[in-house]
Amino acid sequence: MTKIEEFQALGLTEVTLEAIREKGFEEPSPIQKLTIPTFLKDENDIIAQAQTGTGKTAAFGLPILERITARKGQKPQALILVPTRELALQVMEELISLNRKKIAVSAIYGGASMSEQLRRIAKGIDIVVGTPGRVLDHIRRGTIDFSELRWLVLDEADEMLDMGFIEDMEEIMAATNDTKRTMLFSATMPARISSLSKKYMHDTEILRVESKQMTADLTDQIYFEVRESDKFDALTRIIDIEPDFYGIVFARTKVGVDEIVNRLLERGYAAEGLHGDVSQAQREKTLRKFKKKQVNILVATDVAARGIDVNNLTHVINYSLPQDSESYVHRIGRTGRAGNEGTAITFISPSEYRQFTAMRKAVKSDIRKQQLPSAEDVIAIRRQKIKDELQAVVTGEQLVDNYHSMASEILAEYDPAVALAALLKMAFKNDLEQDNYPEIRSFSVDRKGTARLFIAVGRFDGFTPGKLVEMLKRETGLYDKKIDDVRVMDSFSFVTVPFKDAEMVTKKLNRLSRGDKPLAEISTDGNAPAGEDKRNERRGRNHTRSERRMPERERRGPLRNFESKSKRDSRKRK
Ligand code: AMP
Repeated sequence: MTKIEEFQALGLTEVTLEAIREKGFEEPSPIQKLTIPTFLKDENDIIAQAQTGTGKTAAFGLPILERITARKGQKPQALILVPTRELALQVMEELISLNRKKIAVSAIYGGASMSEQLRRIAKGIDIVVGTPGRVLDHIRRGTIDFSELRWLVLDEADEMLDMGFIEDMEEIMAATNDTKRTMLFSATMPARISSLSKKYMHDTEILRVESKQMTADLTDQIYFEVRESDKFDALTRIIDIEPDFYGIVFARTKVGVDEIVNRLLERGYAAEGLHGDVSQAQREKTLRKFKKKQVNILVATDVAARGIDVNNLTHVINYSLPQDSESYVHRIGRTGRAGNEGTAITFISPSEYRQFTAMRKAVKSDIRKQQLPSAEDVIAIRRQKIKDELQAVVTGEQLVDNYHSMASEILAEYDPAVALAALLKMAFKNDLEQDNYPEIRSFSVDRKGTARLFIAVGRFDGFTPGKLVEMLKRETGLYDKKIDDVRVMDSFSFVTVPFKDAEMVTKKLNRLSRGDKPLAEISTDGNAPAGEDKRNERRGRNHTRSERRMPERERRGPLRNFESKSKRDSRKRK
């Protein structure tokens, strides 16, 4: 079942295939099928049109890792230019996870310590992943030498142009040797990309995945915005509110399938997984059980789900986005067959948002946004289910005679309502308690794809809009243009940032705060999180009794480390 041979057919050899196996990739993504063989022919420069999330990092990373040999302590062999520090780290991590040849991969980006970067450069880096500003800085200082490059990759070239990096990019390209091969990846192809390529690229081959237009009309398509870490709870809520859930949950990798199945089993759901490492015998057994509805949840990769012939699914759930719109249509086409209406649900995390927007455009049918069922909804439905099941037992043929005498003994001893409540508690533990359902906060995203952030610092903490923007840029690497609509209140603030960056920004800011309250949160409605106004009111003036007992520094929980870092920074600047 595994299509590892497909990677082999693209020209990759055993070391690289080993890395792919360990990563859990089952078959090449469409953009990988196009770029890898062209790259390995060693003839042309390449322009590839690909969105994030389509496997583009591996599309250039795998062939580079296939060809490269470690050259300890020498000049870099590959330079990958990316628009943001975040992406630099992401690309570096993906390359390191595929590296089986002890290649030195390192990220060079603005805002990080220069001396540390100089030390790494001096030791020798084979593959440099960098943002244009900082890379150029090193070139100008003469601290890095790109005169022996074998490969130059411009990743998310349209973003780099949008961010005004064109001059930096041109200067960098001019500082590299002519003999390298250049690959440009871009989600869109504005005219500026072709003029850039005419100037700096040779014998360019343009590659793009043609997407077929397909629709699946019988399927109701909805999506939920959920953080990656909330996806599992979101899944269980959807399963819980369905009276007869019978569906396939799609994950991207084998590792992903195994993880979801294990967590479902731990929580008592009837689930099984299918992926390329599952033996044929086991696969058949699982499918038999699924068809007979002995298990009602099948978790699968795209490859493993191919050829499954089940008609009457109530749900298809895209736990992770598919690689392209075609496999989306393929996946969801499994519901809504034979005249049955089904529901296709897609989870979107902030980092999947851009890819999803593009996919949504390509899939010509409507995908509606919905709110996840609340904990109250889930509990109400579970209660009803329990009552229905009880009724079936009371009126049904099942033999409860064995329990009659025990029931009489219990009733003789306890109040009937108390006894029944205790039995329910024993049977369902805390399933019906609100505390058992973690809060899943939805993102607020407007049509422009932005999110409003609540930040727990304001004027009382010495912030002005300018200072807040400066702090955001410094701490999160966000670019000026991306920070919008800044409102600084006495003790908290709001800013608008691109949705896809929102999770990264809150994560980074919250790393600065060691207090029990987060420093930044994604605000669902442009208001401070519940109770926040009061909390902030108190912070400046009337402290609660327990707060009063704390020294001032401790009292300001969310800010403790953040402030010490800002002070540290300003000391450094002086
Ligand atoms: P990218 O488009 O490079 O940001 O990749 C998105 C995600 O897809 C990353 O988590 C990759 O590890 C993963 N990925 C890349 N290629 C494949 C593949 N052939 N099969 C499954 N997952 C992949």
